[in-house]
Amino acid sequence: MKRNKIVAGNWKMHFGPKEAAEFAQSLRNNLLDTHGVSVILCPPFLALKTVFDTVNGSEIKVGAQNMHWAEAGAFTGEITGAMIRETGTEYVILGHSERRHVFGESDEWINKKVHRSLKSGLIPIFCVGEKIEEREAEKTEQVIAKQLRVGLKGLSEADMETVIIAYEPVWAIGTGLTASPEQAAAVHQFIRGAIKTLFNSDVAESTWLLYGGSVKPENTIGLLSNKDIDGALVGGASMQLESFKGIIDEAGAIE
Ligand code: PEP
Repeated sequence: MKRNKIVAGNWKMHFGPKEAAEFAQSLRNNLLDTHGVSVILCPPFLALKTVFDTVNGSEIKVGAQNMHWAEAGAFTGEITGAMIRETGTEYVILGHSERRHVFGESDEWINKKVHRSLKSGLIPIFCVGEKIEEREAEKTEQVIAKQLRVGLKGLSEADMETVIIAYEPVWAIGTGLTASPEQAAAVHQFIRGAIKTLFNSDVAESTWLLYGGSVKPENTIGLLSNKDIDGALVGGASMQLESFKGIIDEAGAIE
């Protein structure tokens, strides 16, 4: 099955409403043709609305970086899926490694967030990935299998039509280290197999699997040419117009 490529930029805790909108406007002005690549900008919460208003009517979409699992309630400092959706935002990154390892989010919490995101009308970009010590101990598959099993628990086959999965080896995020195309492809293949076991082969074939971890224009073709790698979740390189556009152009050039 042919899946079009997705390139999502995670701006982490960078760019307030004004700066984010300016970047989005420059991208919109410079990205005259996305070559069929779906482009998603994920600014901080406060900039979701200004970025949405800036890209509205173009092919660029907007995603949040996190949300709470509850519909509403006494959760000081948190944001609901419905609030995010109200800004026009369509996607939400869930289970990013910084959420897991800096803020202590468990697989169970992330699972509740995935469920709530779907109920809120958002498309989750659900992240999985192993730490360096887990890779060195040859536990990559074991770790990812658990993240998938618990993170996707209780979802139906129909729910899976709106779930995007991102494989982000923790050791490659923001470090300049990239998984080789072979390393990334092996894990993507493993993930497809795991989804087949958890759901069925149709779901495994139709689920978008993104790679994330120091993606830049120079390594985009090597990584995204693989049939099991359907796009990229980009951190650092998404915050500069030239490199982000470079990644989109390279992804769009893949047959
Ligand atoms: C990320 O934050 O999801 C990420 C992949 O970051 P970077 O591209 O900087 O490694």
